[in-house]
Amino acid sequence: MTQNAIEIRGLQKTYRGGRHEPAKQALKGVDLDIPAGSIFGLLGPNGAGKSTMINIMAGLVTKTAGSVRIWGFDQDQNPRQARAAIGVMPQELNLDPFFTPRGALEVQAGLYGVPKSQRRSDEILEMVGLSDKAEAYARTLSGGMRRRLLLAKALVHFPQVLVLDEPTAGVDIELRQMLWQNVRKLNRERGMTIILTTHYLEEAEEMCDEIAIVHQGQKITQAATSDLLGQIDAKTMVIDPASPAKILPQADGIDVTLRDDGTIALSYHARQTSAEDVLRAVRDAGITIRDVKTEQADLEDVFLDLTRSR
Ligand code: ADP
Ligand code: MG
Repeated sequence: MTQNAIEIRGLQKTYRGGRHEPAKQALKGVDLDIPAGSIFGLLGPNGAGKSTMINIMAGLVTKTAGSVRIWGFDQDQNPRQARAAIGVMPQELNLDPFFTPRGALEVQAGLYGVPKSQRRSDEILEMVGLSDKAEAYARTLSGGMRRRLLLAKALVHFPQVLVLDEPTAGVDIELRQMLWQNVRKLNRERGMTIILTTHYLEEAEEMCDEIAIVHQGQKITQAATSDLLGQIDAKTMVIDPASPAKILPQADGIDVTLRDDGTIALSYHARQTSAEDVLRAVRDAGITIRDVKTEQADLEDVFLDLTRSR
């Protein structure tokens, strides 16, 4: 048992350019510790470098520099042990159309050297709700079922660390709930460390004990979820005026935009400005409020906040 499930130091990745594209530095020297037993969120906008980092951990992409330890095993010094300790559910649906779910799990178990007597294909299929599709051809499976099969494949060797890359992007609510139930169960009952990437802040908020935010190939911040969300105090109030606004509200610390639909968006920082201050500015501009709603800060706001304050 190690203290950290993952220890990454000075991780760099430069993708070599092609004839028509320049080289791309996707990771610029990242240090990252992921505590054993946690559900850990790797957050960042598209192109931040999340998949690159995960694919390096999984041994699918070669790093340019730095070191990666998985469950205490250095990837370069103990590649087999490092690989055995981690299972990855990839972002892309890359399934061989000629295998049935049971067949795909057997092949995967073989690749990981799991002896026949220790294989638990049926148990895993049951867990992801694919028992009745065990012998169906992969090409007849729906998108949701394929995703569940990818999760099942990541579990054949019962790794200590399970990585899910954007598991819920474009997934329906039912599948999302099934995924999260499974993930929580694996974490609770088997003590599996779970790492997931997402660009949904709410999802990370709900699922993760700890979060790291990556942006342009660098780690911007890492903190317990509750601490991090406390730092985010950017809020937006949207006012629907009873009649079109003649003048817009104005006040220090409030950023005002008139939207195309005639509503007025007022952005402010809750620590400096109260909702009452915002409403007062609206009334002072002679605006009668027909309706009001608030918008949660999304991840873009968080990035702006975090990058601005650096
Ligand atoms: P994320 O998963 O956070 O969206 P990625 O790790 O996929 O980010 O990508 C990080 C950066 O590296 C992006 O600019 C992307 O275009 C680039 N990149 C990713 N994979 C490749 C590749 N195989 N070849 C060249 N560039 C790549
Ligand atoms: Mg990605």
